[in-house]
Amino acid sequence: MNKLLQTEFGFNEVEIKKLDGYENVNYLVASNNDKYIFKTYSIDGELHDMVMAENETLLFLQNFDEKKYPKPIQFTDGSFVKNLKIDGEKRICRMLTFIEGELFGNIKHSKELFQSFGLFLAKMDLNLHNFKNYTISARQWQWDLIYLNLNTKYIDDIPNAKDRSTVSYFFQQFEENVRPLISELRKQIIHGDANDWNVLTNKGEVSGIIDFGDLSHSLLINELAIAIAYACYDKENPIDWALIILRSYHSKLPIQENEIKVLYYLIAARLVMSVCNSAHSKKINPNNKYASVSEKSAWKMLYRLLSINPVYAEKKFRETVNLPIEKPPLIKDVIKRRHKHISPLLSLSYEKPIYMVRSAFQYMYDAYGFTFLDAYNNIPHVGHSHPKVVAAGQQQMAKLNTNTRYLYDQLSEYAEKLLSKFPASLNKVYFVNSGSAASDLAIRIAKIHTGYKKIMVMEHGYHGHTQTATDISDYKFNNPKGQGQKDHILKTQIPDTYRGKYKANDGSAGKLFAQEAIAQIENSDLPIAAFISEPVVGCGGQVPLADGYLKEIYPAIRKQGGVCISDEVQTGFGRLGDYFWGFEAHDVVPDMVIIGKPMANGHPMGAVICTNQIAESFSKGVEFFSSFGGNPVSCAIAIAVLEVIEEEKLQENAKVVGNYYKSLLFGLQKKYDCIGDVRGSGLFLGIEIVKANSLNPDPELAHYLKNELRNRNILISTDGPYNNVLKTKPPLCFTKENAKKVVDNIDQVL
Ligand code: PMP
Repeated sequence: MNKLLQTEFGFNEVEIKKLDGYENVNYLVASNNDKYIFKTYSIDGELHDMVMAENETLLFLQNFDEKKYPKPIQFTDGSFVKNLKIDGEKRICRMLTFIEGELFGNIKHSKELFQSFGLFLAKMDLNLHNFKNYTISARQWQWDLIYLNLNTKYIDDIPNAKDRSTVSYFFQQFEENVRPLISELRKQIIHGDANDWNVLTNKGEVSGIIDFGDLSHSLLINELAIAIAYACYDKENPIDWALIILRSYHSKLPIQENEIKVLYYLIAARLVMSVCNSAHSKKINPNNKYASVSEKSAWKMLYRLLSINPVYAEKKFRETVNLPIEKPPLIKDVIKRRHKHISPLLSLSYEKPIYMVRSAFQYMYDAYGFTFLDAYNNIPHVGHSHPKVVAAGQQQMAKLNTNTRYLYDQLSEYAEKLLSKFPASLNKVYFVNSGSAASDLAIRIAKIHTGYKKIMVMEHGYHGHTQTATDISDYKFNNPKGQGQKDHILKTQIPDTYRGKYKANDGSAGKLFAQEAIAQIENSDLPIAAFISEPVVGCGGQVPLADGYLKEIYPAIRKQGGVCISDEVQTGFGRLGDYFWGFEAHDVVPDMVIIGKPMANGHPMGAVICTNQIAESFSKGVEFFSSFGGNPVSCAIAIAVLEVIEEEKLQENAKVVGNYYKSLLFGLQKKYDCIGDVRGSGLFLGIEIVKANSLNPDPELAHYLKNELRNRNILISTDGPYNNVLKTKPPLCFTKENAKKVVDNIDQVL
């Protein structure tokens, strides 16, 4: 190497040190007075052109400031780039001056440092503004944010499914929020990689920048997005830090409004790009440590960004660059508008209703910039706006949507996948569009199958809003304003070991409750067509049926010719942690099951699952047809939901996080005598709020807690006959950290 440097550059007596690099091999060359970087690359035509283009850029930048940017050094023959043999291999070579300074990533970050960083970048971008280079302009590659989608091929190299979903979410958000604006955004040549290991500092200020290997003719705002992504990715409040860079950049090179609109998503996109490439590099070379230097922090910030409402981020960015802030309408006007045509019978949650605009996994974003931790909604089962579910819907909608009277694959595929989750005897399915439609249909089928009319229902049960569903829902018909109990309804007491008369949940209470219910069955004037119940009575206040209860009731119902229906609308799809369906916890197999809510993650879908025998009886009657039930779009979405549950191991997560959540709640119960009971399993829990050390419900305190939590941006609700049970049933991607946050806040409110 010494000889080569002497011949090619006339360097004598230099010290040479090999450096770590991402893809190329570099050497630090030190002579008495000066330091240089000798860069070598594998031969590749395109790369050769890029190296030439990079040198041209660096030479151009020397016109502005020699010390900030590396300067290309000529070979003795006057060229700047040459192919030379090194260690027996011909490589592309060039020499650059070494820029002194402490790396940005190695020094303590301060406001002054960030200010100087913004200014530095703005000056560099102004310098580059008039620079043209057609090699750079023609470049289409994965490290240019405009070509973000070139990185989607690396998603599968990310080992963890949840991480894959997080990056997919941001890929999708880029397509939704950035792609449509790209043609309007300013473009020029940018450095494109102002990361913490390429930026140099001196005395707490940014003094130089190296590694121009990512030069691209890209969006000007990408320069800033990239810088912010790396400078802020280890910060608790990344937006606050980002604002410092933004403000100083803007003071020198004003940012435009449409650039501000996309900044949040571009920052996320850069992090996504980084983690995708790290995963890919790790996969092809597990020993390449350099490839993943930024990985941990990038993941940290990606997850942190999920908890930052994009509306908030844009508002802050706008304030910083003195752009007008688009004020959303006042909440009172939004409510007024709704009530103009929508009946107040459709109630709004909370004393202060929330005006939602976006969502991501376990977070919901309102129009004013607040992020809400969703500890309540069980419908977005695998997470709000889950990218796989969204993509499944978008793609199928763009292809085909029709009714079940044509042949298409999605119907059978979903039916097979869904029924594989059930015991073998439950092998027929009818698709509808809601839990109500499912319970309505289930009752009709049961009546046709048995020839009977009487229905046995559970105290406090809820099964939907159609007339039939209301008739079987004590929660509705027994309401003071309800329609009252119809003659064909037989109501049985809820086997509740907390509030009920039998308390020992070791199977004995279940038996005793069952004995009383069986007496009702035996004394019934007419035979019972169906018994319907949830395994955990949601609207009843998250009350799990006493152990052993269903095991006694089901045979008694069947003995007199009826069928047993399990309403799994709330409890199904792994929410309970230990079981995929709630009936499994009771060691029974129903004759019919109804499902809904989480089935398609919020897309309206429900189903009745039953035995072959029941389906055959039903088939003897009039044709069954539901215009929307089981359409290709619904099925594609529901398939995606099942896949996500499996890929992200969400049932397991419900169990692990649920157990942790419950243990924290038990801790609170010890501390506060207003917590009478903590019950449920997995991510389906109820917290009974009572007057100190009694069974007397305290709905006022429950109401207060619910609303105080809302004021702290946590969504939880109340239910039960006394409306004193806090219910929490979050999306299954809920984390232990999320659970702790909820419990800490309940603690603080109490
Ligand atoms: N069954 C149960 C247990 C439910 O909780 C609900 C909805 N709350 C339904 C049925 C009715 O479902 P939908 O609102 O989709 O009609």
